[in-house]
Parts: sequence; C-alpha cells; structure tokens
Amino acid sequence: MPITRGARIGIVGAGAMGSGIAQIAATAGHPVVVVDTSTEALARGKSGVDRAIQRDVEKKRLESIAGTAAIARIDWHHAPSGAGLDAVAGCALVIEAVVEVLGIKRDLFAGLERVVPAECILATNTSSLPVAAIAAACARPERVLGVHFFNPAPVMALVEIIPALGTSPEITAEVRALVDGWGKTTVLASDTPGFIVNRIARPFYGEGLRLNDEGVADVATIDWAMREIGGFRMGPFELMDLIGHDVNFAVTRSIFEAFFYDPRYKPSITQQRLVDAGMLGRKTGRGFYDYREGAARPKPREDRELGGQIFERILVMLINEAVDAVLWRVASPADVDLAVLKGVNYPKGLLAWGDDMGLDRVLTRLTALEQEYGEDRYRPSALLKRMVREGRRFT
Ligand code: NAD
Repeated sequence: MPITRGARIGIVGAGAMGSGIAQIAATAGHPVVVVDTSTEALARGKSGVDRAIQRDVEKKRLESIAGTAAIARIDWHHAPSGAGLDAVAGCALVIEAVVEVLGIKRDLFAGLERVVPAECILATNTSSLPVAAIAAACARPERVLGVHFFNPAPVMALVEIIPALGTSPEITAEVRALVDGWGKTTVLASDTPGFIVNRIARPFYGEGLRLNDEGVADVATIDWAMREIGGFRMGPFELMDLIGHDVNFAVTRSIFEAFFYDPRYKPSITQQRLVDAGMLGRKTGRGFYDYREGAARPKPREDRELGGQIFERILVMLINEAVDAVLWRVASPADVDLAVLKGVNYPKGLLAWGDDMGLDRVLTRLTALEQEYGEDRYRPSALLKRMVREGRRFT
C-alpha cells in the first residue's frame, strides 16, 4: 500500500536531522508530528524549520501559501522519557532521529510498537548502528528499516535506504517510492558499517591524514591538490575542520571497530590528538587550521607534480573502496556512484573515475603502495584485479 500524501508522518527527535526531515515531509504535504524529550530542542527545531521555510518563500522556491501551510502542518510535541509517544499513534510512518545510542534507540522502537498500529512502518536515521540490532527490539522487525538522510536534510539530495535482515521487500519498496516522491535521490544499501557513503568516503580523510603524517606534504598543499587538481569542493583537512574532529573521528573509529579492525579503516593518532586537545575545527576556532581572528592561513606549495601524486594516491584509495563495496554487494555500481555524487558532492562517480583513469592504472598504483609499505591497508580489491584481468569496465 503506497503511503499517500495525506498520511501522517511521525518524527522522533527534534534535533538537526529530525527537524530537517520534518520540514521535508511537511513541505511534501504530509501532516507531521515531531516528538522530543527536550522542550528546548522542540523550540529550537520549530524556529529553525519556520525560518528555513520562510527563506524558501523569500527565495521563491516555495509559494507563500504553501509555506504557511507547511509550517501549520507540523505539530511539535513534548514527550518526556517513557511517556507522550502516543502522539505518533496515527502515523503511517515514524522516522527516528534521536541520539546515536543503541540502547536508547532499541527502547524507543519497543515503545513505539506499543502505540502504533500493526501496519505502521518504523524507520531509523542511524548513521552507524546496525539496523538489524534496532529492528531486533521489535516484535515485527519486518516493518523496520534504515532511512539515512544527510545533513542538512532539506538540502542534501541523497537518502540511503537500508533494509535489515528481516525487512519486508514490499516495505522497502514502499518507503523508497515515498522518499523519491519527496524529491530525494534514493540508493539501496546493505546493512553494513557506514552503509555506502560513510564507508567509501573514509580514504578521503584517512589517506590525506596519512600523507600529512608521513610528511609528504602539509595540510594546505594536500587541500590545494584535492581542490585544484582533483576538482573536489574542499580538501580533506578543511572538510574535517568543518565537520568537527569529534564527529569525524568517532565515525572513523566506529567503522574501524565494526569491520573487526581492518587496517584499511585505521583512525589517525594525529586526529585523536586534536580531539584530545579540544581543537575540534571551525566550531572551536582551531583544528588543522587556525580560525581565530587575525590568524594567517598557511600557503600551499602549488607544485602540480607533487599535487598530482597526492591527488592520485587519495583517488586510487577511494576507487578501491568503491570497487570493494561493489564486490561485497553493499550497493549496485550505479548506486555506489550516485551516492558519492549526491551524498558528498564528489565531482565524479568513483567507478566512472576508475574507468576514465584506467582500472589497470589504479591497480598498478595500489600494488606499488602495497609493496612499498607491506601493509594490508593498500590491498587492491579482488574485484579490481578481476576487472583488469578480464578487461572490463564499470560504465
Ligand atoms: P541531535 O543531537 O541534534 O538530536 C537528537 C534529538 O533527540 C535531541 O533533540 C534529543 O533531545 C532527542 N532525544 C534523545 N533521546 C530521545 C528520546 N528517547 N525520545 C525523543 N527524543 C529524544 O542529533 P542529530 O544530529 O539530529 O542526529 C540524530 C540521528 O541522526 C542520529 O542517529 C545520527 O547518527 C543521525 N544522523 C546525523 C547526521 C548529522 O550529520 N548530524 C547525519 C545523518 C544521520
């Protein structure tokens, strides 16, 4: 049964993600109820969404009457711990966006099941927890799936749809069609650590950090190379400073642990020290760069040969990760490329990039790194070797 435009959508958690998702659903015409344990979060969420919708009206992205109606469609509801969840009882779909703590999410899903009808679909916006572990708290795990929006949700086009082991395929298809109808680009991801984007993007940070740690180049030069030669919007260090080292380090660490300590995802001690020092990036005024008033921005060494080598080393690591995600059936080749284009705004899909560069060249470069370092971190994906052997391309 498709979820109709008039169907009520419940959102649990009025933080950055929950309020953004509420804005999307209300703008698409759904009555929305948002619940949160914190009245401050609800007030912040409401004023943020009201302002964002008003801005859309001012910029003529939304008609004034539609904006007013969207604001009126959201009911912000206080739900002190353990009570008040009944507010989502009449919803066709509830999307959870509370703190990233498994125990809290499991308790919440068990509580939701007590108030919603049997046909209500339950979704989690988790970035790093197994959807299966959340679904397992439910009596009807077949109606539970991951629906992973990116931040800021109303702006970022990509949504990863993640069925867990027991999720019904009809429910997965129904939710995917609904989110497509909201104007988002959906991709189907397996319930594996980091799903698609957070897994494939790791070497962008990790190999950048490694190059700096080894003294191959300073952060400004690596950032310059990725922007000017690679065509990325930001280099790894400026991007990590923007994301916040606490957040970026926690994601890397959780993926490293979730992959049973695969050295390819090993976190960097340099980044851990920034976290230890409270130098979390832009938000604290210092990270790899100094954002304090009057601080000078370091100049890159604009050497195109050095820059080209830096860019190519990070790129082949990214391509290898994308190819390996296809090998492990994390997603289809088309969805892998779509995910990095729409989820992290890469200038090109990584598999298409590999084809353009020549998969044989990617393999040669990785094999040289593997031999030089003798580290498993640089092992080429078995699928990359197979594609080169058989002379195949992804696109
Ligand atoms: P946030 O801290 O901004 O908001 C979480 C909200 O949940 C808070 O307002 C808190 O009061 C509320 N909350 C906590 N426990 C609750 C409960 N039991 N019932 C109701 N409300 C409760 O967090 P966020 O950044 O919006 O992240 C929410 C989820 O989305 C997390 O799972 C996170 O991993 C995921 N996510 C975050 C991002 C991001 O960049 N921030 C991106 C994608 C996914």
